Amino acid sequence: MLKYQLIRSKCRKTLGLQVKYGYVIVRAPYYVTTKFIDTFIEEKSVWLLKKLVEQRKKIDFCDFTQDSSLLYLGEHLMLNICLAKKSNVFIDNNLATEVDSLSLYTPVPRQLNVVISERVSLRSTEPLVRAKRVKKLLENHFKQQAEKLIVERLEMLSGQTLLIPKKVNVRQYSARWGSCNNRGELSFNYLLMMAPIFVIDYVIIHELCHLKHLNHSKSFWQLVKEYSPEYQAAKEWLNTHQSQLHWQNPR
Ligand SMILES: [Zn+2]
Repeated sequence: MLKYQLIRSKCRKTLGLQVKYGYVIVRAPYYVTTKFIDTFIEEKSVWLLKKLVEQRKKIDFCDFTQDSSLLYLGEHLMLNICLAKKSNVFIDNNLATEVDSLSLYTPVPRQLNVVISERVSLRSTEPLVRAKRVKKLLENHFKQQAEKLIVERLEMLSGQTLLIPKKVNVRQYSARWGSCNNRGELSFNYLLMMAPIFVIDYVIIHELCHLKHLNHSKSFWQLVKEYSPEYQAAKEWLNTHQSQLHWQNPR
């Protein structure tokens, strides 16, 4: 028997079935018995399972389409793609109000809205073109946010550690979170914005410590530990979320 979440409503006349973000949601009038609902779920179980598997894929791997899930500061957000005059990217809680009665039991994900400009929407109707456009808008947004947040955290941590870089870059990387060269310049991957703040801080401290030790020696890790006591947890977070931390091109 599939687990589902039941929302009773006074004004409903019929049974409604929905699979959203990996949950089965049933909306029902008060007079419908749970036994009836269970039988209904049983009958639809093949279809429901197929839907659940599809959505699970979207949670583990963002393909930049509607209802895909993307990490932002450690939180899973659900993509909502729409059209309007001007392109925009913003977070809101619309979904939470829609299924408010559920939020007591499960954290309902917030929405990451990606607005595609109508001027380019003609070209964006093709699914692949649209997904690429969504990815581009999100990249710009993450980069903008990273330039603010990473620089802010870096200034603070630099003040605490008295390790001061010559220059700081925020850019795209294929396989690393940050780097430090022998000229004392640090670079950071803007996709770090997917990680919780304590992980971002760890990556910054890691690179700052390279200003003193340009290697991964015992003394380097000792220094990291001094300024980031939770560095093990941060490394573990990066490991566990590895599969979600890389953005691939929509196919
Ligand atoms: Zn390193």
